[in-house]
Amino acid sequence: ALAAETYCDVVREHARVSGDVTAFSFAGEDISFAELDAGADRVASALAALGIGPGDRVAFLGKNHPLYFEAFLGANRIGAVMTPVNWRLAAPEVAYVLGNCCARVVFVGEGFADMLAGIRGDCPLVEQVIGIDAPDYAGTDYRTWRDGFSPSPPAHRVAAQDDALQLYTSGTTGKPKGAVITHGSLLSSRDGAAAGEEMRVWQQPIPGDVTLLAMPCFHISGTGTGIGTMVAGTCSIVLPEYDPTKALDLIENFNISKIFLVPAALQILLNHPRVGEVDFSRLKYVTYGASPIPLELMREAIRVMGCGFVQMYGMTETTGTIVALDPEDHVAEGSVRMRSVGKPLAGVEIKVIDEGGNAVPTGTVGEIATRSDKNMRGYWNNDAATRATIGPDGWLRTGDAGYLDADGYLYIHDRVKNMIISGGENVYPAEVENALYSHPKVADVAVIGVPDDKWGEAVKACVVLKPGEAMTEDEIIAHARTQIAGYKCPKSVDFIPALPRNPSGKILRRELRAPYWAGKDRAVN
Ligand code: ATP
Ligand code: MG
Repeated sequence: ALAAETYCDVVREHARVSGDVTAFSFAGEDISFAELDAGADRVASALAALGIGPGDRVAFLGKNHPLYFEAFLGANRIGAVMTPVNWRLAAPEVAYVLGNCCARVVFVGEGFADMLAGIRGDCPLVEQVIGIDAPDYAGTDYRTWRDGFSPSPPAHRVAAQDDALQLYTSGTTGKPKGAVITHGSLLSSRDGAAAGEEMRVWQQPIPGDVTLLAMPCFHISGTGTGIGTMVAGTCSIVLPEYDPTKALDLIENFNISKIFLVPAALQILLNHPRVGEVDFSRLKYVTYGASPIPLELMREAIRVMGCGFVQMYGMTETTGTIVALDPEDHVAEGSVRMRSVGKPLAGVEIKVIDEGGNAVPTGTVGEIATRSDKNMRGYWNNDAATRATIGPDGWLRTGDAGYLDADGYLYIHDRVKNMIISGGENVYPAEVENALYSHPKVADVAVIGVPDDKWGEAVKACVVLKPGEAMTEDEIIAHARTQIAGYKCPKSVDFIPALPRNPSGKILRRELRAPYWAGKDRAVN
């Protein structure tokens, strides 16, 4: 048999040999691989009848739903490209993404029909809106629409180099950018991508595995999880959005073996009043990533959940995970290694470079660059940004600062853009934040650079204290001095009630910086 070129072929094969196996489970309703496969073929025919073809963009605006994956597969089978839109965005931001990706068809989920109606006038390219289980949408209903078409497989054949997915970055550092991801990248990122012997134990698909898809599909974490289980031939139980009570219930009663959580979601789970009574014995792996994790949180998670933990480092532009820290490197006492994001996956190259693009010695901090089949093709309609990110040699600059140790473990310091230059010295906020977190009265902290006549930029800490605690600026600075070099210590402290964060738990530093930099020449981004 021919080797599968795309996940579309892999799903076809699962439908043929194990069609009864559940691919997705949602609110008590199961969709088998055979149903998924036939449903997608109907969608392919239905979209073709609307004039959609290779290279056309379709979008999904809604909470997680298994029919998103069916529509995605159906669109892909005729060469069209899926764009899941972040439903947490404000209406004008959604309009920006729909316009930027040039979507001709939009699938809308429950609760978003009104928002879409309000911006239709700003999205002249949108020709059709189809409601997926959306009682608030009066137009075409997905199930009725697709069932009016034949489930015979389309004649079109998609290839590894074809575009499959257009995913927008989180917009942590600026406007979200559309990363164009090919079928080759999607398939190379599957569990079981690399040759058997190169695969890490936790990557190997095990029949009967049940994955809880709890993170949003508008990020690579959610979509990547669903694609991963489709390729592995296993089941994803889909939550419309993250809900710690439901997650704990499913972990206990539905044999969940794998779950991916961002650190903020893991923290919420561990704070849940029921967490101590839950039986975690069938949970094999918790994978986590997307933002830095406090060591204390990780240690607590190991104590409470007792399963394998895998940290993942990656980005939208690399189709998710490229580097991972294995379960063996997680120990309840904590260790230096646990500050690392681990080692590159099979087939992924990592190097650390200076401003000129040259590799720096082991242990030296620089920008992390990567090369593999997982790199995006480029940013949609933005050649300048693509050229600034991917070199002609295929190396992609991540925008993250970090270093490699002698054993090949990667440590993330911070984003290059976050680096503060104070009196000619480079200060990475993450390092200062770790020092301040270690104070028992500090609940949350973000460190930024603010304009300073003497130092160029000065280090400022924005501190959230634990409820009922009090501290002065001087006490914070004195604590920092016991932990890190003087030039890295904050020169000033703002006490604030909460940090601005996006849904992945990423600190929106540009919001903290903006009031200080208004009218000044450092780009506030
Ligand atoms: P934008 O590019 O629009 O500013 P973003 O970079 O936050 O947004 P994503 O692609 O969702 O968008 O996130 C990737 C980034 O998340 C990485 O570049 C890195 O800064 C951070 N990140 C991912 N995994 C980890 C991890 N395990 N530890 C620390 N940071 C991580
Ligand atoms: Mg980014």
